[in-house]
Amino acid sequence: MSKTLSHPIELPMEINNFQLISYLGDRKYLVRSVVCGCTIEKYYSNIISCVNGMCNTCRKEQDALKKKPRNVKRGLIAKHPKTGNTWRAMKGRCLDKNNQDYYLYGGNGVIICDRWLEPNGQGFRNFLEDMGERPEGMTLNRVGCSKIYSKETCEWANTQKQCFDKRIYSNKNKPVGVKAFENGWVVNFRKNYLTYTKDFIAACDIRAKAEFDYFGYHLQDWEGIKKNYETNNCS
Ligand SMILES: [Zn+2]
Repeated sequence: MSKTLSHPIELPMEINNFQLISYLGDRKYLVRSVVCGCTIEKYYSNIISCVNGMCNTCRKEQDALKKKPRNVKRGLIAKHPKTGNTWRAMKGRCLDKNNQDYYLYGGNGVIICDRWLEPNGQGFRNFLEDMGERPEGMTLNRVGCSKIYSKETCEWANTQKQCFDKRIYSNKNKPVGVKAFENGWVVNFRKNYLTYTKDFIAACDIRAKAEFDYFGYHLQDWEGIKKNYETNNCS
């Protein structure tokens, strides 16, 4: 069809989402793309072979947006969803102040090595390279409750190992607002983070004082809780 056409062809005419505005000679037209809105000069052969209906500048921009950051990140995480979730959750705990566990991690000085935070999907690529795929039933553990997430300080561990590292305080009379964390205790009161201390008795005293200051009395039997802890921890 194109070969038998004589130029200029009769205008107005729309071909492949290009409105032909005027003929510039040499089988070239001034056209307006109805997709991106740009007005450009285009050879007739390029108009009839164009599949996206955009000018070259806009098409390149769109391709760049599609390919660069997204495909790298999504592609790799899509192939490793379980490990990807672990990596994402780690970032949430350490970097997102709105994360419910932030006060125990990022807010408590736990950081992630730069290598695992590199932009454009490289952070996850490095994480995967260092740690390998997350084994079934395992979670990311910082050995000895290190304050940093990195290749040197992390391992895949089952929950029992993590409990051991965290020295979970297993007691029926577990106090409300004093929570075992890493090598110490986090104290909360009315959803506010108060402090972190390695000393259980000090943690109890801080929480007890907060209760008394707010309510005018203690909500829990602090003397009993402390005595109980001291008895159980001498073994
Ligand atoms: Zn354009």
